[in-house]
Amino acid sequence: MKWNRGGVYVKSNRVVGALNHEVGHAYDTSGLNSKLWSTKSAFRAAYRKDYNKLRSASVVDKQKVSYYMQGDGGPAGRSETFAECFANVMGREINGGMDMDRYFPNCLSYVKELLD
Ligand SMILES: [Zn+2]
Repeated sequence: MKWNRGGVYVKSNRVVGALNHEVGHAYDTSGLNSKLWSTKSAFRAAYRKDYNKLRSASVVDKQKVSYYMQGDGGPAGRSETFAECFANVMGREINGGMDMDRYFPNCLSYVKELLD
């Protein structure tokens, strides 16, 4: 349950998705050699690929993914992207959340492989 913008208490279908996103941030800190998974070169390369492709996306699409592109391709957007990919892998059908397969396919593949 959550308060909506109109001040009405409504059922939220994003609780599980938001929780899985936050667990994704926690998982990110479990990278080997005390490095965040989202800072490792393979993930950085995947993110750069997806990020560069999105730079030429429509304005609407760019608005949708602006949270994941924050910080001009730096660690902030990468970290959010990693966490949301994790939430997607945990089950987007029940989570809701961003369609990372559409916007960040390379990042999603990386996280999928990591969790296999
Ligand atoms: Zn986050």
